[in-house]
This record gives sequence, structure tokens and C-alpha cells, in this order.
Amino acid sequence: MKKYDFLIVGAGLAGATAAHELTKKGNKCLVIDRRAHTAGNIYTENVDGINVHRYGAHIFHTSDKKIWDYVNSFVDFNRYTNCPVAKAPDGKLYNLPFNMNTFYQMWGVKTPDEAQARIDEQRQQAISRMQADGVTEPRNLEEQALTLIGHDIYEKLIKYYTEKQWGRKCTELPAFIIRRLPVRLTFDNNYFNDSYQGIPIGGYTRLIEKMLSGVEVRLNTDYFENRQELDGLANKIIYTGEIDRFYDYQFGTLQYRTVSFDTEIIDSSNYQGNAVVNYTDATTPFTRIIEHKHFEAFGNEVYANPKTIISREYSKEWKPGDEPYYPVNDDKNSNLYAKYKALADSEKKVIFCGRLAEYKYYDMHQVIAATLEKIAALV
Ligand code: UDP
Repeated sequence: MKKYDFLIVGAGLAGATAAHELTKKGNKCLVIDRRAHTAGNIYTENVDGINVHRYGAHIFHTSDKKIWDYVNSFVDFNRYTNCPVAKAPDGKLYNLPFNMNTFYQMWGVKTPDEAQARIDEQRQQAISRMQADGVTEPRNLEEQALTLIGHDIYEKLIKYYTEKQWGRKCTELPAFIIRRLPVRLTFDNNYFNDSYQGIPIGGYTRLIEKMLSGVEVRLNTDYFENRQELDGLANKIIYTGEIDRFYDYQFGTLQYRTVSFDTEIIDSSNYQGNAVVNYTDATTPFTRIIEHKHFEAFGNEVYANPKTIISREYSKEWKPGDEPYYPVNDDKNSNLYAKYKALADSEKKVIFCGRLAEYKYYDMHQVIAATLEKIAALV
């Protein structure tokens, strides 16, 4: 008789979802995490009354009512709507995602028809160039961006930001990354197309704590330092860490991007007037500045706290010992992942869940949906 039905490696969103569901169905679970806190990369910490997104901005959004109801069953969500602003190489500010405000700022066009004509003209140039090379489908992020939105927007708002974020040329990145961003002919700065959006009131750590309530959690516990002993404790394992590490990098290491933050408390109640400002030029070394209070304080609430906290976000290539954030889903890494996935699929006792274990550029709602599905198939 093992002491636990499930050992859950990782106390982030995937681990917490699995733990909650399995516990609800009567399983005895042990959740471990090598960090000193739960919530993984969605961890928020209250500093001077402001919930700081320690591992970068997280904005919950989904069109799936079931997933929205699910997260709201643990904590209430506020009405935050992500409307990032970009500081471009020309020094001007532009609204994101690409919408009528952006087109007006970029070209002075005032109607959807005028904007569409400008976009079509630029798209057509890109399509003709590709056709001349015998290419029918965009082969990479640059071609995708140029055929979606054209040269001006690509140069001012996409190229350098993307190359800073991924540390690779846009011609070496997969097209799907940019398809995340909507293009709209309305004056609508909402970054997401989803029906539901918000931030858990009181921060993400509260959400995870609620999900983990009644579940045994051991922090500061590294799976790989005590692997045999930990494996011996449970009948099955839910693993949410990096899949290549699980298999001792036997086929080679997958690449990740990591992010570092330079966080500062500032003696002003409002530093940049928005939660997210992207720096889409090549010279600024960071990709964006997050001003954390704007995720949870609206209107006059912003001024209730005389201080504010900002984080400059720097993107770099992951190396062992860093926190992995983004899988690099280019061909080389996707092929390598496929080898690990084949091993994972043959496991009888181990289920792989989440961004790192599935090597997927998942959003939070997708992590929950995928994990719920895997757990439902189990019990
Ligand atoms: N992107 C861009 N300019 C921006 C913001 C995003 O070109 O100002 C592109 C970039 O290629 C990035 C992708 O859109 O990798 C996805 O951005 P998102 O903000 O969704 O990424 P995340 O919030 O996950 O870092």
C-alpha cells in the first residue's frame, strides 16, 4: 500500500488543477514544489498593498464558460481588460492589438475602409513577393506578419519586440506565435478576443491556495533530488516540470526562453498609466514594463496608494538553473519534443500536464482545460 494515490510534481496551475480534481474524487494527493511558494509562475506577492506578478504579467482570459466558472468558483475575478500600449522605434505610442486606434496613429486613417485599403496595399506587396518565390503559405513569423498586417506595423510594432522576446530572427520563428494577436477594424484596444477576462481579486496566489485547500503540499522539495523516495510514495505521478529533464535529457535539451525582472518601488502613484507598455524598438534592452497596481486598481483607486511598483522585463535564452518560461516551438525543438512525447505516451504511471511537461505555449485557461481533460480520463 502506497501512502498516496498521486504524487503531483509542481504546485503551479497545472498541479493545482490536478490536485483539486483528484482530491475531490477521493484520492490522496501529495503536491511537491522545489520553490518556497505555491502558484508556480503565476505567483503574486503583496508588496506595499500591491500584488506583484513575480514571474511576469498574467491575465486570465477564456471564451469557455465552464473554465471561467471554474476559476470563479475559487475566487472572484475583477474586470481588468488588457489594453497594452507600445512604445515604437519612432518614439510614439501606439495602441495594441492592431486596431483602428493603431491605424489612425500610424497612418491618420479614420474609417475602417481607409484602414483596410492601407493594409491590403501592404499585404499585397508581401503576398506578391512570396508568390514570386513560389511560396503559398507563410513559412515563418515574418511572412505571417507581413501577409497579415503589412510592412509598417511589422517594422514598428512586431519585428524588434519579437526578436528581443525570442532571441531569434522573425524568419526563424513559427508563424503561429503572431496569430495570437488580433487585427481589428474597430476602435477596440482589448488585447484578447475572448468573452471573459480578468485578474483574481487579491492575486493569483490566492486562487492557487484555494485550489490546494485540503491538499498536502511540501515546498522546498526538489523531485530530482529525492526522486526514488518520492516515486515510492504514490501509485501515480502527475508531472508538471520540464519533460526533457524528466528523461535526463537523454535525447538532448529542449530550448526555452527565460525572463528576468528588474523590479522597482517608485514614489509616485502612477508611473506609466497602464499595466503594460511594450517597448517595440531594437535599442531598449527590455521588452516591456509592467506596472502592477493597474491590474487591480481602476479609476481613482490608482491614487489610493501613493507608491507604485514596476518591473522591467528582459528576455533571454534559458540555461540550466534558470526558470523556464516559454517553450521555443520551432522545428528543431518540436522534433525533439516529439521523441520525449513518445516516451511519455508509453508511461503507465505518469501523466504530463502543463506548459513545461507538454512543451506548449499554453495560456492559463488552456492549461486548466487540458489538465481537466487528462484527469477526467484517469478517474
Ligand atoms: N508581439 C509583437 N509586438 C507586441 C506584442 C506582441 O510583435 O507589442 C508578438 C510577439 O511575436 C510575441 C507574440 O506577439 O511573441 C505574442 O505576444 P503575447 O503578448 O501574447 O505574449 P506573452 O504575453 O505570452 O509574452
